[in-house]
Amino acid sequence: MVYIKKIEMKGFKSYGETKVTVPLSEGFTCIIGPNGSGKSNIADALLFVLGGLSAKSMRAEVFSDLIYTGKNTQYAEISLYFDNSDNKFPVDKKEVVITRIVFKDGRSIYKVNKKKETRSYVLDLLSEVGITPDGTNFVGRGE
Ligand code: ATP
Ligand code: MG
Repeated sequence: MVYIKKIEMKGFKSYGETKVTVPLSEGFTCIIGPNGSGKSNIADALLFVLGGLSAKSMRAEVFSDLIYTGKNTQYAEISLYFDNSDNKFPVDKKEVVITRIVFKDGRSIYKVNKKKETRSYVLDLLSEVGITPDGTNFVGRGE
């Protein structure tokens, strides 16, 4: 089964300018940490790369709010590293890296294995493994 091996974030929300890597393993993952330490921001990062079109669903007013508030940060870039050892993605690679970048003007671009691709290409690719932008269940605090 396809699973996410690693999340890489640069310039995203509280994660700052330098690249931050969150390694994941197969199966159940639990992210723990003090209040306000960025746990939910990781879930927001996932929704973002999976093609979310509602900034509010990522707890932002507008897309540019996803960018780290540091003065010099011009964009936010998130990559999800999917394990593809069973070739569920129709891509001849053991690893599929899906990246989405958002710029200050709110525009975003997508990449697959570092190559720029259209949003619809990325959504088609994700749908091959049963992932759709609204196919996840996020239960917020208090719900
Ligand atoms: P809780 O335990 O309260 O649910 P959490 O670990 O889920 O907290 P998050 O909601 O992921 O925490 O992170 C909140 C932090 O992210 C806040 O300090 C907020 O200021 C910060 N943050 C959100 N957007 C940005 C941004 N664009 N730039 C910098 N920091 C940001
Ligand atoms: Mg939270």
